[in-house]
Amino acid sequence: MKVLKFGGTSVGTIESLTNVKKIVDGLDRPAVVVVSALGGLTDRLISTAKAASEGKDSFEEAMIEFRLRHHNIIEALVPEVKRVETRKKVDTLLDQLGDIYRGLYQSKTLPERTLDLVVSFGERMSSIIVAELLKEAEHKDSLSFMRTERWFNKNIADRALTEKLIKEAFPLPLEKTVVTGGFISRDRDSKEITNLGRGGSDYTAALIAAALDAEELEIWTDVDGFLTTDPRVVKEARIIPTMTFVESMELCTYGAKVVYPPTIYPVFHKGIPIRILNTFNPEAPGTLITDNIEGGVAVRGVSALAKNGLIKIEGALAGNVATVNTRAFNAMSRNGISVLLVGKVDHSQEVSLIVPIDEMEKALRLLKNEFAGELQNGDILSINGEAEVTVIAVVGEQIKQLAGLGARLTNTLWRNNISVKAVSDGASETTIGIVVDSSQEKQALALIHEAAIERR
Ligand code: ADP
Ligand code: ASP
Ligand code: MG
Repeated sequence: MKVLKFGGTSVGTIESLTNVKKIVDGLDRPAVVVVSALGGLTDRLISTAKAASEGKDSFEEAMIEFRLRHHNIIEALVPEVKRVETRKKVDTLLDQLGDIYRGLYQSKTLPERTLDLVVSFGERMSSIIVAELLKEAEHKDSLSFMRTERWFNKNIADRALTEKLIKEAFPLPLEKTVVTGGFISRDRDSKEITNLGRGGSDYTAALIAAALDAEELEIWTDVDGFLTTDPRVVKEARIIPTMTFVESMELCTYGAKVVYPPTIYPVFHKGIPIRILNTFNPEAPGTLITDNIEGGVAVRGVSALAKNGLIKIEGALAGNVATVNTRAFNAMSRNGISVLLVGKVDHSQEVSLIVPIDEMEKALRLLKNEFAGELQNGDILSINGEAEVTVIAVVGEQIKQLAGLGARLTNTLWRNNISVKAVSDGASETTIGIVVDSSQEKQALALIHEAAIERR
């Protein structure tokens, strides 16, 4: 049994949904199909909620737009006998959404849980429609089996509970193809509607694939596969035919938008291969992510993650990288902050930590607290933060075989007037992280891609 996930671009229009129908109706066995909201709808749901809570009545027009968009798709693709029923289901949801917007307009507030409720309508509507437009499929409400828990002000999947509920919801072998909405979930305690984070439909599909021991997870999107870098920035990006789980995990963690980062782990853990395929070009072989790869290349791909803060710890103690790292890491992880990279600029008495920009203030506070003694006795001179840096990740399982690659790439950047703020200290077996100012991100990505991939 396979799990197929179709992203927003694949379910955005009548044309793209026609392709989805062809792909799923053409399967020789029942499958699980996970869909995102209609392309661009989640953004619109959010911006409309914000506007309503600011006292703007634009939600009235937006509601007309949302209704029309869903109705047009039903009209064009759902068989006539099922049309009235499908429209009724979608209209019931749209009426609820309209009431929520009206409430926000009146209360002039936008609590997090109301925003989570608002965005959930995207996947709830798209999944109902896709189930009805397929030849033979049933709809299952993912709110009945996806569960999250709170973790430092975030909602994260409760994997054990979700796995149990998925197993109960999907008796195997499947008799019919099942369509469900990605991204959305409920809090395991309050049962309020939550979600897995923007782009999270991939993760829903992976959790289902892992729980049901699927033979393969297919991520259907709008490009021919996982590319060596972001094709919107570097047009020379090439398709990667095969890559390992770890390589894909690293590239996604550092910004390759094609797959939501937590997606890889649950399927990797079960050894379930992932295929990245193009809804608009289904014949293309795509990318296979697996561990059974013959041969290998030193650099598989390059990605860039913006919106980070750079924290520098300077002074004599900073020379003792291992100690500083361990203590800094522990202080961060106790408080739910992920450190994306630890770096150094050659020969300096300084350790650099990269954290998400919106957590930098908190991270600085925690570090100053952790090293209060050293700051007082002078072993550490300063702990400072610098905003808006981008980590460029150069990834490959055999990257260590290319001795001096980090230095070579750094030199390439310096020669092109891009200042390198830090380079990862070599702890990772698969990734070299190069930190640059975000204003120079695109240029740096293109130069590194050229040096590490195009000219190899
Ligand atoms: P979906 O709606 O299918 O979830 P996304 O927009 O989330 O699609 O992801 C697909 C997009 O990711 C592609 O259109 C592409 O522009 C972008 N992208 C960024 N980096 C990469 C990469 N390394 N390989 C492929 N696509 C990438
Ligand atoms: N619709 C959600 C988003 O736009 C989830 C997803 O597309 O994966 O973020
Ligand atoms: Mg996506």
